[in-house]
Amino acid sequence: MAEPAISLQDIYRARAAIAGSVRRTPIVASASLSAIAGVPVYLKLEQLQETGAFKLRGAVNRLSGLTPDEQARGVVTMSTGNHGRGVATAARKLGTRAVICMSRLVPANKVAAIRALGAEIRIVGASQDEAEVEAKRLVAEEGLVLVSPFDDAHIVAGQGTIGLEILEDLPEVGTVLIPVSGGGLAGGIALAVKTAAPRVRIVGISMDRGAAMYESLKAGHPVAVTEAESLADSLGGGIGLDNRLTFALMRDLLDDLILVGEEEIAAAMRHAYWAEQQIVEGGGAVGISVLLGGRAGRLPGPVLCLLSGRNVDMARFTEIVSAGPLAAPGGEGARP
Ligand SMILES: *Cc1c(COP(=O)(O)O)cnc(C)c1O
Repeated sequence: MAEPAISLQDIYRARAAIAGSVRRTPIVASASLSAIAGVPVYLKLEQLQETGAFKLRGAVNRLSGLTPDEQARGVVTMSTGNHGRGVATAARKLGTRAVICMSRLVPANKVAAIRALGAEIRIVGASQDEAEVEAKRLVAEEGLVLVSPFDDAHIVAGQGTIGLEILEDLPEVGTVLIPVSGGGLAGGIALAVKTAAPRVRIVGISMDRGAAMYESLKAGHPVAVTEAESLADSLGGGIGLDNRLTFALMRDLLDDLILVGEEEIAAAMRHAYWAEQQIVEGGGAVGISVLLGGRAGRLPGPVLCLLSGRNVDMARFTEIVSAGPLAAPGGEGARP
């Protein structure tokens, strides 16, 4: 493995930079998933983060490093929703202008939450790649500072602080299940965890509709995919054909990357709600999909399943969970 462009030291620095602005989220045991998996399963409740998703960590770390001149110019980013909300929150605290570029696929509840934070919104095209073109135009024309949603050392290090918390709160951890889109989250956590404990298995999960990182790893280089609507809207978007950091991190540090379908995502949301009393958005629940379906084979325990966000449209959520609980753990009905 090549020397990573980000070190454990960067992640400790990030932790100091974001302390006070970001919650340390709890890790709780899951009796229902432990019974299904046959090993102890714990959930890290990152959906309880302020802004309802982990992305605040990276955003605060990135914006805390802005020079006074950059702060005065303002920031711009492209987002599937949760990163934009994190950036809008961090910018508001600094009193910095923030412009969030999003595609038409971003759910209305996420757009509304960003608008409420006082950020400027641009809805462009039908993919995060198209939103990125608009963001880069604003960099060129208005001098805004581009904040990548994942392919940035400060963003990766910020998300990596979750890995430090996992090692401290569950030092015996055997496997970590992490939702993957651009790979900033899994890259940061894998770096933190594997540097200290190389034996830990890191398993990424993406949705099977337009999984850019999965297709890129298969091809051996970053490739473009067509973005599609999904319950896991927060896992959409490309990884950038000029990806600098996260492709290599995923290639070098992921032990496995599993794809899950829409039915499996819905089942995970239902399970989180009925068996764990947790409200989790589709993209945040895919670790549970893998456990419910036994999709990763036998995993070294204890398993830490990261729940990464909860910013789901509540009318849609209510529809999904109204189907009731899944059948008894381990029974036929537990398979989505
Ligand atoms: C962004 C996001 C992810 C994926 O993070 P990446 O760093 O892009 O891989 C997972 N879950 C939720 C809820 C997200 O918002």
